[in-house]
Amino acid sequence: MSQPVNLSESSPSNGGDPALTARFEELLTRYAKLRPAENLTPLREAFAFASLHHTGQTRSSGEPYMAHPLEVAHILCDMSMDSVCLVTGLLHDTVEDTSVTIDEVRKLFGPEVSQCVDGVTKLAKLNFYSREERQAESVRKMLLAMVNDIRVVLVKLADRLHNMRTMASLSRERQERIAQETLEIYAPIAHRLGMGKIRAELEDLGFRYLDPAAFEEVTLAIESKRRATQGVLEEIRHAVEVKLSRENIPARIEARLKRPFSVYQKLKRQKISIDQVYDLLALRIITDSVKNCYGALGTIHGEWTPIPGRIKDFIAIPRPNLYQSLHTSVIGPGGQAFEVQIRTEQMHRIAEEGIAAHWKYKEGSKTAQTNEQQVAWLRQLVEWQQDVRDPGEFLSTLKVDLYPEEVYAFTPRGKVIILPRGASPIDFAYAIHSDIGHLCVGAKVNGRIVPLKYELKNGDVVDILTQQGHTPSKDWLNFVKTSKARNRIKHVINTTERAKAIEIGEKHLEKEARRLGVQWKKIGKNQVEQVAQDYGFSKMEDLHAALGYGKFSARQVLQQLAPEQVAAAEAEEAAPAPPPPAKLDGEDLVLKVRGIDDVMVYRAKCCNPIRGEAIVGYITRGKGVAVHSVNCSNVQNLMYEVERKIDVEWARAVNETFLVKLVIHTDDRPGILNQLTSSLFHEGSNIRTLEAQPDESRSDGSAIVNVALDVRDKKQLERIVNSVRRISGVRDVERSSSNS
Ligand code: MN
Repeated sequence: MSQPVNLSESSPSNGGDPALTARFEELLTRYAKLRPAENLTPLREAFAFASLHHTGQTRSSGEPYMAHPLEVAHILCDMSMDSVCLVTGLLHDTVEDTSVTIDEVRKLFGPEVSQCVDGVTKLAKLNFYSREERQAESVRKMLLAMVNDIRVVLVKLADRLHNMRTMASLSRERQERIAQETLEIYAPIAHRLGMGKIRAELEDLGFRYLDPAAFEEVTLAIESKRRATQGVLEEIRHAVEVKLSRENIPARIEARLKRPFSVYQKLKRQKISIDQVYDLLALRIITDSVKNCYGALGTIHGEWTPIPGRIKDFIAIPRPNLYQSLHTSVIGPGGQAFEVQIRTEQMHRIAEEGIAAHWKYKEGSKTAQTNEQQVAWLRQLVEWQQDVRDPGEFLSTLKVDLYPEEVYAFTPRGKVIILPRGASPIDFAYAIHSDIGHLCVGAKVNGRIVPLKYELKNGDVVDILTQQGHTPSKDWLNFVKTSKARNRIKHVINTTERAKAIEIGEKHLEKEARRLGVQWKKIGKNQVEQVAQDYGFSKMEDLHAALGYGKFSARQVLQQLAPEQVAAAEAEEAAPAPPPPAKLDGEDLVLKVRGIDDVMVYRAKCCNPIRGEAIVGYITRGKGVAVHSVNCSNVQNLMYEVERKIDVEWARAVNETFLVKLVIHTDDRPGILNQLTSSLFHEGSNIRTLEAQPDESRSDGSAIVNVALDVRDKKQLERIVNSVRRISGVRDVERSSSNS
């Protein structure tokens, strides 16, 4: 495994490269200046350890490999990062590229460093550019969500920046790939974290390697513009200096040209020429207070004409990454437009360094107010979820959760699957493919079997176990989080239930045929199909399903197939057959207004009264007489116009039925639907629709069954409700008031 290393040795072992040792001593000097109180031993140990393990390795440029981690540490020092960060920078490639294990790193450098090194190593292993993973936004989000400690991202950015700076000796193909990845992933992350300086360098390097011709063209154009305007810029700068000092506004003034990459983007986006880029020349005024920022803006506008629509107040309304400045563009001497950015020192530091600005003032030398501002800044940036007791403590153990709504899991091959927080392996399986979901019988997460309702975490590697012929379970609906999984599961369950209904329907029909002495074999297949068609079904199966769901009785069907035999059987039966199915005779009125014949009468939808219930009529405007149950809550409200009330009665017709909807609450146990349909059927009612679904409001596997049936009257309804209540597992039955 690893070689022994003598850590007490004061001069680091680095394969005998004096240049590296000298460069490392520079790092120590710079760091000591930055944090005089800090112990340098961990840095020495990390340098010795990494040098030893990278011994013999070289970069593609031919220089010793150790030069890379050392320069990464220098970049982190430029960013004023802490010791943990620098040590991580020195060690960041040891676990990835040498025989060193993460356990060794933990033993030698402690848990904080080992967690950061582990984070960087994990990010390095991600295969961003496997075919499907080209969506840069999801990769960026994933990358940020993957890390628990924001310092991992900072080390990763420093690593990328150094690689970009030293890419000259790589092949064109690799240069292009790395440049593209930098522009799509790393520069936007730096932008999001508010790190303007690193972002700018990453973008310009990316641009240079991705499109060298365009880079050259833009750079030349900027250069010639610079030469042409140098005099003007100096003149403006001097004028501003004089005016501000006259107003007693202390200011540091920088004149600058827009960077190649942002000029290029602007030219491309706005389809303009370089002369039309108003903010190509820019002056930056850095002053001491917000008040003086606005003062300086007034001074500028007093001297030169501002271009309308170009004044932006990012002090009052900071950008999402907390960038603050005042921007304006004005017409300067000789008609030369230029941009002015005005900000305080603190705003400047945050604009350049973003999140990294926080480590600088960690020592507690700043006032409480500054700390509060920094913490507020961070709070907004990372949408954090934890309570913060001590801001200083918070900064050193920074935990971030940038995308709390999402969780990023991986297939064993490294493909990223983005799921909502709380998603289960079932959601994961359906996200890969519907068939994987259907066949899922178990899951391994990071190599271990987990329950199917396990909550996935960021970075979990999920291996779905499948079995041919397996079908989804209803229980899954209780914990899946994605609509894809939910819909696919429901679809399969509906299909399965239909298959059951078909089987039941077929058996019902055979059994009833036997009971009535109908000679089943004598009935031709064509004949049965004809009957199915008469019922409005295109297939036999549909008729069987309808029988299984209890929409018709088997006897009704047999009557059509063999009317004589059924009639003969019925004649023999002692008891009269159940009443014939509902058939509304047009001549028979269901309701009538007492004493009047030709009035349109209808049942009110709100209470949907059925025969046998006490009713009252109400004359509507233009729609005839609405009939309500006397118990209907609307009646009380309507009856303030007493003259519109009218007596109504149930007409004498007996063959009509009323559609009633029931909501049945049951335990979700096998066979309960069969019992329910047969019970409803035995009470002689016709089931129009029946739909069972899990009770979402409970988590104990209860179900809700919605049934719509035709009933003749109140008495029959009471019988039905009583018999349903007697079924074991049924908890409650209620009549639904909705008639639609
Ligand atoms: Mn590296």
